[in-house]
Amino acid sequence: MTQPVESVVHRSQAKATRLPSVDRFLKHTQLAALIAQHGHRFVVEAARAVFALRREAAAAGGDVDVSDEGLVASVQEHIAQRLAPRLRRLINLTGTVLHTNMGRALLAPEAIAHIGRTMAAPNNLEYDVDSGERGDRDTLVENLLCELTGAEAATVVNNNAAAVLLTIAALAAGREVIVSRGELVEIGGAFRMPDVMASAGARMVEVGTTNRTHPRDYQQAINADTALLMKVHTSNYAIEGFTAAVSESEMAKIARAAGVPAASDLGSGSLIDLSTWGLPREPLPQDMLRKGIDVVTFSGDKLLGGPQAGLIVGKRELVQKIKKHPLKRALRVSKLVLAALEATLAIYRHPEQLTQRLPTLRLLARDPGEMLAMAQRLEATMRSALGTRYVIEIVSLKSQIGSGSLPVDRLPSAGFAIRAAGEKRAGSALNALAEALRKLPVPVVGRIADGALLLDLRCLEDEAEFISQLGELRIGEIA
Ligand SMILES: *Cc1c(COP(=O)(O)O)cnc(C)c1O
Repeated sequence: MTQPVESVVHRSQAKATRLPSVDRFLKHTQLAALIAQHGHRFVVEAARAVFALRREAAAAGGDVDVSDEGLVASVQEHIAQRLAPRLRRLINLTGTVLHTNMGRALLAPEAIAHIGRTMAAPNNLEYDVDSGERGDRDTLVENLLCELTGAEAATVVNNNAAAVLLTIAALAAGREVIVSRGELVEIGGAFRMPDVMASAGARMVEVGTTNRTHPRDYQQAINADTALLMKVHTSNYAIEGFTAAVSESEMAKIARAAGVPAASDLGSGSLIDLSTWGLPREPLPQDMLRKGIDVVTFSGDKLLGGPQAGLIVGKRELVQKIKKHPLKRALRVSKLVLAALEATLAIYRHPEQLTQRLPTLRLLARDPGEMLAMAQRLEATMRSALGTRYVIEIVSLKSQIGSGSLPVDRLPSAGFAIRAAGEKRAGSALNALAEALRKLPVPVVGRIADGALLLDLRCLEDEAEFISQLGELRIGEIA
């Protein structure tokens, strides 16, 4: 600590020079095996990277392993890390089921199987087998979407943000879209309603106030330049207290009287009434259409439980216009998405089987007693893995649906609250544990709240995998 800077530099140089030359090191027999397997250039790069890290550590005054065995092991590890896929499985114990940062909905086995069956071979993505002529990829899921929502027509794009953008661009570019000030939402940072309108080339006309919008607000704003009346589901926040909003059916009536279409962006858009399973009720696309809304947009990977996609359903003439817009070609979905979507939608033909066959619904509808029983089964293993530095408690928790769905509704759940045993540096002790859990072969992610690391067990289905890796938990030093 008190050494003059000079001598530190000398010491580190002395250590670093004990590293073999890269050329000599590459002649090591184990390196030859690595080179045979991965190629000369790749291994040289790995060796250089490992040597550079060693030199850096030496310069920082650390003890550096310059033995051949140590260097070979580091090169092997470096190569293994470089070759490991970047997209990995996680164990999501955050309590948020549709976690946007963790890939949202889990695909049903049927969807994965359908991808597997149809992707390794040529398929009829845009080929009409009956006529032997060119087909339209939308027709693969259009009938199913119409059957499930009662729509006349449907189309699919990359995500719901794209669905909204395309709908506005196709129906209102260069003209006005009327929307309530209470619905000018921002979803996940980059999706802000005013910006989407501008990107689509439409002029947004805001009506009403943040908390109250009335039918007359829409009526007074309508003029010859009005192209669309739009409602946006305020997915991720709630306005409470002295509020008023115009219902979909009221807005649809006003739109019809004025001879302009009405659109509704639902965001999540569950296809089934979730209250059947004691979950909060979300507006359904089929209800919107029945109430007279002409075009409804919603996500494929939120409550629907399918792949990332944006679904547009509604009146034939309007959907036709949307399909013909040049942006449709830029925003269209791939065959992978269509395969996953078709198989997911097909599950909805058997609503009574949804909680078994659709992972999203299975997790959302999971009984809190199940999570509590699991916590009790795991408790002893958790205690021995964490040692005496932490105090573990089984607690009731509140899960979230996530992805902006139903922000104020929480689902009763259970799991662990883990606190540092001592008061001192409790925060960094929790961070060290959270980091150690993330460093497991299948990273485990919880959430830190109120001075505890919370592990919500709602989304844990493979208990054996979770237990089997706990032995590898290495909690670092607490800073
Ligand atoms: C989530 C959401 C979107 C964006 O949907 P993505 O599928 O994430 O693109 C748009 N509008 C609303 C109301 C949403 O909740």
